[in-house]
Amino acid sequence: MPTNVKKDLAISKTIFYFTFMMRHMTINIAGILGDKWKRKSLKGMFEDENGRVLGNIEAREMLAQMLAEGKKLFPVGECEGFDYITGCPGHSSGEDTE
Ligand SMILES: [Zn+2]
Repeated sequence: MPTNVKKDLAISKTIFYFTFMMRHMTINIAGILGDKWKRKSLKGMFEDENGRVLGNIEAREMLAQMLAEGKKLFPVGECEGFDYITGCPGHSSGEDTE
């Protein structure tokens, strides 16, 4: 049944197009402040709002502050519309995220 095959292909192409969303990775703030990371240094892993790279203690203080504000996640990279509780909203393939 060649007509049905054609139709199926068209449908799967459409689904692929709409689900091709780019998502930024997120860091779980409570996780990185937890036991597993206690002995590891967070130096150089985080930046403040001004783009300054933070040292270990500074990074931990910033993350603890964020946690106190009810934030749960930290974005990896520039993420437009990032939500500190639900994370990256997803970006469609055509969107310029840089
Ligand atoms: Zn994002």
